[in-house]
Amino acid sequence: MSESERAANSFESAYLGRPPWDIGRPQPAIMKLAETDQITGSVLDVGCGTGENILYLAERGLAAAGIDGAPTAIRKARAKAKQRGLEVHFEVADALNLPKPQHQFDTVIDSGLFHVFSDEERPRFRASIGQVIRPGGTYVLMCFSDQEPGNWGPRRVTQAEVRSVFSDGWRVNYIEPSAFETNVGQAHAWLASISRL
Ligand code: SAH
Repeated sequence: MSESERAANSFESAYLGRPPWDIGRPQPAIMKLAETDQITGSVLDVGCGTGENILYLAERGLAAAGIDGAPTAIRKARAKAKQRGLEVHFEVADALNLPKPQHQFDTVIDSGLFHVFSDEERPRFRASIGQVIRPGGTYVLMCFSDQEPGNWGPRRVTQAEVRSVFSDGWRVNYIEPSAFETNVGQAHAWLASISRL
C-alpha cells in the first residue's frame, strides 16, 4: 500500500466515529470570509469532510461542490445536504489528481487539507487545484500553524512554506493568523488567500 493510500484509509476509518476536526458546524474563519464577500461565485471545497463549510456557503446562495477521498465523509455530507434541502454536488475524489472540469471554479476552499500533504505531495496538489480553479480565481487555505505548540494534531505549516509552494503562477494575497475550531479545543491556524494568475 502506498503512503497516500494508507493516509486515505486512516481518514476513512476516522469517519466511522467523530474525528476531532468534524465539529458539526462551519469554521468561524470561513463564515467571516463569506460574510465579507471574500468567498464568491462557484466554490469547490477540497477535502470537504462531512461538508459543514460548503453546506454553509450553499445556504448563503453560492454554487457549491465538495470532494473528499473518504467515502464515508461524502456519504454523510450528501445526507446533510438532503436533510437541509441544499443542492451541493459531493463526490469522492483524490485532491492530488483532480480532472479539469468543464467550468472551472471561482473559489476553492481548503479547511485542513493542505497540512495533510508531504513535501513531495505539495507541488502535485498545487498542480491539481490549478486545474479546477479559473485564472484570477482564489484559493482559500486554512492550515495548522507552526505557532501551535504541543504535539497533537496534523503537521505544522510555516508562512514561508505556503509562499514557496505558491510562488510561481500564483499570487499570495495575504497570510494571517487565524484559529481552527476542533472538538478538543482551538488551534492556531494560518488563513491564506492565494490567487491563480
Ligand atoms: N474540511 C473538512 C475536513 C478536514 S480533515 C473540515 O473542515 O471538517 C482533512 C480531510 O481531507 C479529510 O476529510 C480527508 O478524508 C481528506 N483528504 C485527505 N487526503 C485527501 C486527498 N488526497 N484527496 C481528497 N481528500 C483528502
